[in-house]
Amino acid sequence: MSEKRFQPIASPTPDNTLSVYIHVPFCARKCRYCSFYSIPYNPDAADAWSRAVLRELDLYTLQPPIQTLYIGGGSPSVLSVSQIEFLLSRLLEKTGRPTEEFTVEINPAQTDAAFFTVLKTYGVNRLSIGAQSFHPEELSFLGRLHQPEDIFHTVKTARQCGFENIGLDLIFAVPGSSLKTWKQSVRKAIALDIPHLSAYSLTYESDTPLFRDLKDEKIAPVDEDTDRQMYEAAIDILESAGLEPYEISNFARAGFACRHNLRYWDNRPWLGLGPSAASWFRGQRTRNIADLERYIESIRKNQWAFDEVQVPSALEIACETAVLNLRKSAGVNRQQFISQTGFDPMELFAEPIRHYAALGLLEYTAECVRLARPAWAVADSILCDFADV
Ligand code: SF4
Repeated sequence: MSEKRFQPIASPTPDNTLSVYIHVPFCARKCRYCSFYSIPYNPDAADAWSRAVLRELDLYTLQPPIQTLYIGGGSPSVLSVSQIEFLLSRLLEKTGRPTEEFTVEINPAQTDAAFFTVLKTYGVNRLSIGAQSFHPEELSFLGRLHQPEDIFHTVKTARQCGFENIGLDLIFAVPGSSLKTWKQSVRKAIALDIPHLSAYSLTYESDTPLFRDLKDEKIAPVDEDTDRQMYEAAIDILESAGLEPYEISNFARAGFACRHNLRYWDNRPWLGLGPSAASWFRGQRTRNIADLERYIESIRKNQWAFDEVQVPSALEIACETAVLNLRKSAGVNRQQFISQTGFDPMELFAEPIRHYAALGLLEYTAECVRLARPAWAVADSILCDFADV
């Protein structure tokens, strides 16, 4: 990346807003495809983890309020009711209630009304439910512990406890699935009348049993054409049901886009707490140690727990911002980009903009650049040309 060729045209405006992400590193059982850091749930380890997270927060001198708070993992819903209550009560004493959104990830069949009631009491106003599929054989292939009926039951209980802003995650291109079974899953999600849905193609991350089985030719991946047809079918079905794509893999009714995740795609600051959590805070990108014991040990000594630190240059920040912004259907807003990074995106990315616009894969006006609809399915191959100018 050459710093000499491009010069900023303005000074970036400091961003004093903040999101906080908390990584719960426990699961009831490891899913076959999962590369997130998580270990089997153990009540004593969970108590020690939550004390460490609260102490880690104290290492930062935050000025409340924060904008969004997101508790994910791992499986937050594997915590006991008293553990989630302890965490939320102590956490909010330090951060205050987030001004925009407070999300907790939930696994079907792991929660009950008592758990949801605690979430509600402490101001959680959004749930993200890891449904993944409505077909028992696909859930079993993925190594999920729930059945399709658990998804219905979890959504029903959440609604009875007062939750309206509910998102479901689904995975397509699961070996053994077909375009037909995928469409059925999407339609079942819509029938639940949820306002948000995320649809991701199954990825084969190294260090997962799924990846090893692929390498050993024990499983055959869904072919690329079918994968693409599944993605495009999801867009069509969801759009006609009123869930608009606001990011390549995320669909929502008006007013229900996930504000926490939008802040990632806007490349705004966030603080990640817990083992393996990443942060983009005070000009540094950091990642905490992906090991619970070592994480707790560092925090007990009042030391930062990260084992990766990077201070990106102004040009690197601009490129990262473009790559993230282009994932959104709204794309890059020129004035916002200049104010945030100091660079003019039309100048910085003149070459890839011209190239992809000529291919019909990118649209732009004087004020905005965004991926054209046919580009969404192949976005990653386009975005890499914005990652390094
Ligand atoms: S429940 Fe989620 S975090 Fe836990 S192993 Fe499965 S996919 Fe990974």
